[in-house]
Amino acid sequence: MNTETSARLFEEALQYIPGGVNSPVRAMKGVGMPHPLFISRAERSHIWDADGNEFVDFVSSWGPMILGWGHPEVVGRLKEQVDKGTSYGAPTELEVELARLVCEAVPSVELVRMVNSGTEATMSAVRVARGFTGREKIVKFIGCYHGHSDGFLAAAGSGVLTLALPDSPGVTKGTTADTLLVEYNDVAALTELFEERGEEIAALIVEPVAGNMGVVPPQPGFLEACRELCTRHGAVLIFDEVITGFRVGWGGAQERYDVMPDLTTLGKIIGGGLPVGAFGGRRDIMETVAPLGSTYQAGTLSGNPLAMAAGAATLRVLSEPGVYEQLEAAGARVEASLRAAADAAGRAVTINRVGPMLTMFFCEGPVHSFADAKAADTAAYAAYWRHMLEAGVYLAPSQFEAAMISLALTEADLEKAAAAASDWFAGAGA
Ligand SMILES: *Cc1c(COP(=O)(O)O)cnc(C)c1O
Repeated sequence: MNTETSARLFEEALQYIPGGVNSPVRAMKGVGMPHPLFISRAERSHIWDADGNEFVDFVSSWGPMILGWGHPEVVGRLKEQVDKGTSYGAPTELEVELARLVCEAVPSVELVRMVNSGTEATMSAVRVARGFTGREKIVKFIGCYHGHSDGFLAAAGSGVLTLALPDSPGVTKGTTADTLLVEYNDVAALTELFEERGEEIAALIVEPVAGNMGVVPPQPGFLEACRELCTRHGAVLIFDEVITGFRVGWGGAQERYDVMPDLTTLGKIIGGGLPVGAFGGRRDIMETVAPLGSTYQAGTLSGNPLAMAAGAATLRVLSEPGVYEQLEAAGARVEASLRAAADAAGRAVTINRVGPMLTMFFCEGPVHSFADAKAADTAAYAAYWRHMLEAGVYLAPSQFEAAMISLALTEADLEKAAAAASDWFAGAGA
């Protein structure tokens, strides 16, 4: 595969951008690439790099492109809005439309505030929880990622995990001292922590299906325990549904598992491919946010009309009947084909999947926590990833990420990916 243009663009990027990328995992270091692929265009389920190589895409821009690219509803509304103005810094009907869709879909959300990224959403939700409770500590799970704000950069997942930075320079000890860590799915440790320090805890934040250490579903009773402990100790339960929102179901993971948080953070899909985040939840908590209450939160470009138009158009398509059944079926097919390929080669892998998000861990498993995920053979993943790329299939460039299945994937796309995986296992397993 010729990637000369990407290599050249990367050389140039290195002169102006730290590490040549605007987000670390894009550097593709986790899979041993000398340079990332520069993408020049995308259509439906396919992307093309700067050298004209074409790939079936299983990254979906890390989740947002659940409809695939160029959906006529999304593109149409964006084009219409471009002519009317791209930002006013004043209220618009579009933001009411998106807020209404979110409140109707996500069961626990009564009021919602739009921001510009998932990072802003989680950062703001924690501030609101602290303001509401008058407490300072937050509890997070090891391997969960909640964006890059200071308090969360303790045992975070995703890029931080891939680059093995357990913590980051520039984050003060005072900040992370307010973050208490527990292993994902460990109800006993969580219960003990709450029994010891319950009255200091403002919030427990959790990815209700972890996606940033690879997909790790909640074990039966885990989310219920999170809910129960927060209720008993007066802490705010925050579901970080930046990935799972509108992916694992129309009402997100809270609907799928029937456990209601106090606050929810959203991002990715609700922007339809433009930068959006949101946090929302119980009316009494959200009413503490300025200008109604005294907890400050603001944004010059928040509720941006282009982003609202793309988000609302995306949610309208997702609200159509049969959409989540189709996503479930596509996810199940990918899982079954990977399982068959690995089994045929006698190779032990663990496939964790919830609806259209899936990770194949190169280890025997089971994978219920970050400690389990770390046992995966990342060198095997890198070899597999490179084989898939050569075969025209674009996967997340890290073992600790998820395949994000979109509605645009066709029968032929799924077959191509299955055949490529089967080839790899046949070769590597021999
Ligand atoms: C992506 C992600 C974030 C951060 O969102 P950004 O838009 O990248 O700031 C937060 N939480 C979860 C669960 C995520 O997957």
